[in-house]
Amino acid sequence: MGDTKSGRVKKAREEETRQLARELEEERERIDEPEPPSEDEEEADLEPDGGPDSRTCHRRGCDEPAAYRALERYQEETGHGAVEAEALLCRDHVTEEHPTNLEGVYEDYVFRVEPLPSTVD
Ligand SMILES: [Zn+2]
Repeated sequence: MGDTKSGRVKKAREEETRQLARELEEERERIDEPEPPSEDEEEADLEPDGGPDSRTCHRRGCDEPAAYRALERYQEETGHGAVEAEALLCRDHVTEEHPTNLEGVYEDYVFRVEPLPSTVD
């Protein structure tokens, strides 16, 4: 009864293909959706030294030029090693910055705020 079996398999496969096509279509629609304008703060997160344009305050909704860099180095809970979290902040917001990962304190724990070179000049 090979014919019957392969017929069933074929049907299942067609169903699978249809399902896949549907998913692809949905995926495409999602991609086609216009993205909200991305904030500079996201770039600043990834590339703190990405150039003058990305040096704006890390705080949401703040477009002030960053004047300080806050760095916190802590041990991740998972034990995968030290993690460095860095944020560029303007003069106003740097005063609100504080350690946020004290549960990850270890012997090389660092919380540091330093002026950006452009500020010192
Ligand atoms: Zn700010």
